[in-house]
Amino acid sequence: MKAEVISIGDELTSGERLDTNSRWLSQQLGDLGIRVLFHTTVGDDLEANVAAFHAALERVDVVVATGGLGPTADDLTRQSLAAVAGVDLVLDENVLEHIRSLFASRQREMPARNDIQAMFPSGSLVIPNPHGTAPGIDLRYPRAGQADSRAFALPGVPAEMKEMWAATVAPSISTMLGNQQHVIRHRRLKCFGVGKGPLEQMLPDLIQRGRYPSVGITVHKATITLRVTAREETPEHCLAAMRSTLDSIHAHLGPLVFGDEDDELQHAVTRALERRQQTLYTVEWGSGGLLADWLTDTRSPAYAGGMVVNSVATASRFFGEQCATLPERDLARQFAKVSRERAQTDYTLVIGRYPEQPGGRVAFGLATPGGVAVISSARFAIANPDILKERNIKQALDWLRLKLLTA
Ligand code: AMP
Ligand code: MG
Repeated sequence: MKAEVISIGDELTSGERLDTNSRWLSQQLGDLGIRVLFHTTVGDDLEANVAAFHAALERVDVVVATGGLGPTADDLTRQSLAAVAGVDLVLDENVLEHIRSLFASRQREMPARNDIQAMFPSGSLVIPNPHGTAPGIDLRYPRAGQADSRAFALPGVPAEMKEMWAATVAPSISTMLGNQQHVIRHRRLKCFGVGKGPLEQMLPDLIQRGRYPSVGITVHKATITLRVTAREETPEHCLAAMRSTLDSIHAHLGPLVFGDEDDELQHAVTRALERRQQTLYTVEWGSGGLLADWLTDTRSPAYAGGMVVNSVATASRFFGEQCATLPERDLARQFAKVSRERAQTDYTLVIGRYPEQPGGRVAFGLATPGGVAVISSARFAIANPDILKERNIKQALDWLRLKLLTA
């Protein structure tokens, strides 16, 4: 079964608002084992909506649309669906009563224009909306030589849309699937330390089109995600089907894999520290507190805190007069050594000053129970300062992570 998601509203096509409904609905459809082939975004225009629904209902089996069900003149989803199906809009007395009672319960008179929300394309079903005035529409569309396709139109308000999806639409789609029901499940492994190309070469048989379970690879700010996908009758069967693929990835990549699902490097680091009941302090110059922010967000007791240095004068006052003249690597060493003593933590990680010129390197310092070490960052010819900051922090965190694996 194939699906399309349609998002309706000028606020979406104008770029004013981000279409988050499509993303959410596609994930839900995916979990039901249904492949989403199209995302369509269309403004508040009758002709455009009719064209969008017509195309969708001809080319896929299930269409889920959001938006355009309000009471105002620019809400055109019900009219569009009626036009596509070639039927009239008819009043549903029960829905009208429900809308009236909602207004009454808020001690308000129902405006006459809200009548339209009780009008439905003839022959369609009502999708109840317990907490809003706009019910949804469930419409069958006959196709020549093929099974009927079906459109589910829901309000754009994300909370109402999600509630109605769970209560009515998902169960209806499951019934449509009948005995071809499947679920799709993903497992993500997170890797750091090599580029995407070299990592792909380490997994020659796994990242191949047509392989099952499939393995996808994406990279975001130097963190590589391997996504394994299985489609089976139950979530448990999916996990079982993925087991040997996941094991094989771990076997090939070893410590390049630092975690799974939503893990980031800071989680891997704080987890390792917690296991050993050890603590970490940080000193940052170039990264302006971002490392401290990431570590704070883990809410781990292993993170003791940190400081941000932003001038030679401050560096000299805290870490000694010689800071004014020390080369970058010696500066990082001095920061690490002194702040570990002061903070009384097991580790102190230092991110040094950023180079003035592109192509320079940043010095990282690490004070450990066994001594102080210094390394330099990779050389980044040109990079957006934000990306540079994140990459440097990740490289420093990964250095500490690997030290904790072997220490
Ligand atoms: P509507 O049902 O078209 O009146 O939409 C009601 C409100 O829901 C809009 O003003 C948006 O704030 C929000 N909304 C509509 N469509 C979406 C969407 N695709 N993603 C996220 N929010 C949306
Ligand atoms: Mg709208």
